[in-house]
Amino acid sequence: TLQDRLAATFKGLRGKGRLTDADIDATARQIRIALLEADVNLGVVKDFVAAVKQRCRGEELSKALNPTQQIIKIVNEELVEILGGQTRTVRFAKNPPTVIMLAGLQGAGKTTLAGKLARWFKDEGHSPLLAACDLQRPNAVTQLQVVGERAGVHVFAPEPGNGVGDPIQVARDSVEEARHKLYDVLIIDTAGRLGVDAELMQQAADIKAATDPSETLFVVDAMIGQDAVNTAVAFQEGVGFDGVVLTKLDGDARGGAALSIARVVGKPIMFASSGEGLKDFDVFHPDRMASRILDMGDMLTLIEQAEKAFDQEQSQAAAEKLMAGKGQFGLDDFLGLMRQMRQMGPMSKIMGMLPGVGQMKSVSDIDEREVDRIEAIICAMTPAERADVGILNGSRRARIARGTGVEVRDVNNLVNRFVDARKMMNQMSQGMGGGMMGSMAR
Ligand code: GDP
Ligand code: MG
Repeated sequence: TLQDRLAATFKGLRGKGRLTDADIDATARQIRIALLEADVNLGVVKDFVAAVKQRCRGEELSKALNPTQQIIKIVNEELVEILGGQTRTVRFAKNPPTVIMLAGLQGAGKTTLAGKLARWFKDEGHSPLLAACDLQRPNAVTQLQVVGERAGVHVFAPEPGNGVGDPIQVARDSVEEARHKLYDVLIIDTAGRLGVDAELMQQAADIKAATDPSETLFVVDAMIGQDAVNTAVAFQEGVGFDGVVLTKLDGDARGGAALSIARVVGKPIMFASSGEGLKDFDVFHPDRMASRILDMGDMLTLIEQAEKAFDQEQSQAAAEKLMAGKGQFGLDDFLGLMRQMRQMGPMSKIMGMLPGVGQMKSVSDIDEREVDRIEAIICAMTPAERADVGILNGSRRARIARGTGVEVRDVNNLVNRFVDARKMMNQMSQGMGGGMMGSMAR
């Protein structure tokens, strides 16, 4: 899946201290393949990859993050952007009723959605009315009546037994009905065909012209992949719409439709449907969808917190010392990093947020008191001792142990682990100190 692909791409970067142009190119190539395999529109993929690449190269990179985190952050932001940026809310008419018209192919999920939307408006304190303007299929009206009953919402339908009615007239009458009976939202369900069809387009366009909707929503099955984009383009030309509703997201493993459609037609995705039940429905949030696609666990939260909590200059100074090797990175720097990391939350939680680390039991078992003890021992040292652990002879270690209320063995342990960890960190040149924190606390 797209999720697995992206995760593998980012995993390949882990441990790199600095990204070369070649790294960025390779990453961009992998992201490109991942998106194409997820059935994302080619034009969208090209724009996306170009934007990510340019930002990786050009940007004043945040010093709080390591290069992998930087890329994840950039990819996430670009995903949100492509999915429409901000959540777009419903525009209500100045004079009620606010007309919401649903258009799309047969089987897209319009009638099901009509019920969900009606219920949602009702829960938001509105009084919605449903209008049955699909007079094409024999039992379409009955289907909407069942849906309406389940949602507890009234349905306006043509009188039975009048032969095939005129959907445009029904639509017009439903607006009158809503106005007279003081419904403030009117949701119009329309007919769809199996494929794009001129007659159907005309009918939808006529209903639109007759009712002047505040929102015309194009409803599309997310599982049809690239076809969703083609159909959207056809409806945009034939009917015109203001927003998109993606349905059957419960079955969409690839996410390509979501990533293509908003950008290609230039209209926001406003709602998402993810099941047959009335409650399987939500306002579409680009940021949530992006993190679902990225599937980075709480990595994104961690990145956000890291940026907030890290004092950039200090961490840069520490990172530079670390990069320079030669043991300049002292316990003082370590203590600074540790304190800043602790501001982000309990150590065990922070470690657990790193992808792949969360599952490791030993890490979630990190003992906060152990971390307190490390801090206490370091605090009992003189600045000179912190800067160069090499001067810690037996009597100094005994003094520190006494001052902290621990055994000399504990001080030895800390120093040995610090030296080991620093060696390892130098090898990995990994910036943030995660690896070192883990091995110290364990
Ligand atoms: P319409 O022809 O556009 O009115 O589509 P319908 O509302 O009649 O839905 C067609 C089929 O898709 C029905 O069997 C629905 O139960 C099903 N359906 C609609 N929305 C969803 C959804 O979000 N998830 C799933 N799994 N099925 C859905
Ligand atoms: Mg229908």
